[in-house]
Amino acid sequence: MHSRKIIIFLSTAIFFLLSVPFSVHADEAIINASNLNVRSGPGTDYESIGRIDTGQAFTVLEQKNEWVKIDLGDETGWVALEFVTLTESQSNGAEEESEVNTDMNTITIQQDNTQLRDGPSTDNAIVHFADKGTEFDVISATNNWYEVANDNVTGFVLKGLVEDSKKTNPNSNIWKNKTIVIDAGHGGRDVGAIGASETYEKDIAYLTAQELEKELLALGANVLLTRKEDEFISLASRITYSNVLDTDAFLSIHYNSTPEFPNVSGIETFYYTGSGEKLAENIQQGIIEESGERDRGVHEGDLYVIRQNLKPSVLLELGFISNPEKEAKLQTQSYQQQLVHGIMQGLGQHFVE
Ligand SMILES: [Zn+2]
Repeated sequence: MHSRKIIIFLSTAIFFLLSVPFSVHADEAIINASNLNVRSGPGTDYESIGRIDTGQAFTVLEQKNEWVKIDLGDETGWVALEFVTLTESQSNGAEEESEVNTDMNTITIQQDNTQLRDGPSTDNAIVHFADKGTEFDVISATNNWYEVANDNVTGFVLKGLVEDSKKTNPNSNIWKNKTIVIDAGHGGRDVGAIGASETYEKDIAYLTAQELEKELLALGANVLLTRKEDEFISLASRITYSNVLDTDAFLSIHYNSTPEFPNVSGIETFYYTGSGEKLAENIQQGIIEESGERDRGVHEGDLYVIRQNLKPSVLLELGFISNPEKEAKLQTQSYQQQLVHGIMQGLGQHFVE
């Protein structure tokens, strides 16, 4: 008797657990491919019933293997999972504003015909199609949606479809499944170059590595640091992760010094093989655009960590610590963030090309 009561109690408890809060959640699918076929069933054997375009968002009704069933208004259709990004959202339109944005950021629309809706859900009606490049003020934000306005229109837009004013690439799908190895140069007894007021290259390189790690993790990338503290590690062990993992980019971070010429400044990027050249060009361009520093260019360099690296790899010389003005600037978080945003711009560009 006793055990039967327990079973009844447990099944009642499980029933309540299952029935309470989950019904309000639904996934959104953001389309990542242009002219994507929508099919009548979950597979390429099913006929195409139409096409949809990059940047459009739909409510997900069901997921089966590698296919997603989406709500197309009057009808439903299936699209291949590999061409969509799924985000979780609440479908009842009454999402609480958990992260109200009070400092009026602006966002920029990334795709033509981006849908603005009259509420924070794909069940809400479309009120406007915004053109690529249009800017809006952010009025409020939920986990997945911004409420935005400009002189012409007010509406809600999915966060994944816009870029915020910080200029990090919000298109989180390009960062998902990307593995980036960050190598903070030098460490431990190897202090690297010594700055005008005796700062060590190893310390500034580590600052940059940490800031970059934080930004990449926030966007969903996998990140590995070759050293996690101020320790000496061999050149050979710096490339181990990169070579054994499915690494998309290896970035070795350094700072330069020419003590006899304290006015020298600028940023340069080295690569060793073809696979690193495009990466180097993209990152160098991103950093120069973001920092406004002197462009010392992209060069082929016979340097161990990029020469022995089997993956796309670059070595960044992010400035001269022998220049007193730059040395001071490099120790501020705001300038480190500027450099990191430049690196992110370049990496993002590299991944979409
Ligand atoms: Zn160095």
